[in-house]
Amino acid sequence: MTDIKHMEARTAEHRPTGQGVTRRESLRIGAVGALSASLQLTRRSWAEAGSGNREADATEPVRTTTGETRIWDGHTHLASIRGEKPADRMAQLIEYADRMRIERLVVFMGWPFAYDPSPDQFRRQNDQVLAAIHDWPDRVLGYAYVNPNHIDHSLEEMQRCIVRGPMVGIKLWVAKRCNDSALDPIVQRATELQIPIYQHTWLKITGNLPGESTPSDLAELASRHPRATLLCGHAGGDWELGIRTVRPFKNILLEVAGGDPTAGFVEMAVRELGAERVIYGSDAGGRSFASQLAKVEAAGITDREKKLILGVNLRRLLSPIFKTKGLKS
Ligand SMILES: [Zn+2]
Repeated sequence: MTDIKHMEARTAEHRPTGQGVTRRESLRIGAVGALSASLQLTRRSWAEAGSGNREADATEPVRTTTGETRIWDGHTHLASIRGEKPADRMAQLIEYADRMRIERLVVFMGWPFAYDPSPDQFRRQNDQVLAAIHDWPDRVLGYAYVNPNHIDHSLEEMQRCIVRGPMVGIKLWVAKRCNDSALDPIVQRATELQIPIYQHTWLKITGNLPGESTPSDLAELASRHPRATLLCGHAGGDWELGIRTVRPFKNILLEVAGGDPTAGFVEMAVRELGAERVIYGSDAGGRSFASQLAKVEAAGITDREKKLILGVNLRRLLSPIFKTKGLKS
């Protein structure tokens, strides 16, 4: 995971934006702009409340441009967080989420990360997520991590974690490219269960891992399974290409987690796909909540569009499985 992240950072930082600034520069402008806007809002609201000029402390929730928007984060992990047990790590994540007023977190995969996990490995990782959900049933949702190289075990795991357990979606990472027909039984089962499939995607100039999917691979899968609900993880990393690739496939939603908060990213996604097809996620603890929220909070889009991206869309995707399970959103 770590080397993937480093590659993600390199590929994102060194490509020109086409407007005479590098991505690194536009990132600096975008992120600093978002942060200073947040701080100004915070200071103003305190002053209006008559609480003077005190400085932000770590326990004070950050005021966002979207006010009391119910933020659901569609993408977090227990890895890259300190703590011996899932409970310790989840408590840390919740503490950070509280600062940003994030209401619910979708968690998938435990630790250590495994590119091509054996059935035992993905079961163990799902057990870690199940423990986190058990401790925080009103704050934490889980997707089951499965591996298309082990179809029967993956289907059993979906039964255990989703049908008999509390999970509400599945996560596919880098074990096999998702255009492979080996995925079909998993996708068919997810479609029957009316749950979203989160597929990691990336386009790396340094070359993808052998089993790492691109947005084009996901487009192939979507055309074979038009009724499946597919999430294009990380917008393909190289988001200008990712957005255009998935645009014709209405059953693909674009997820904006990971990578740097580059100016123009979410604006383009909304313009090309419509805000109903864009989903916020952070990839915490690999990324901070603040940097990832800034992509949406600081975007030049309407408050209604921000609300869709920050929570309404995810609640809509999950509404069938919530209904089946009798969960309240
Ligand atoms: Zn992730």
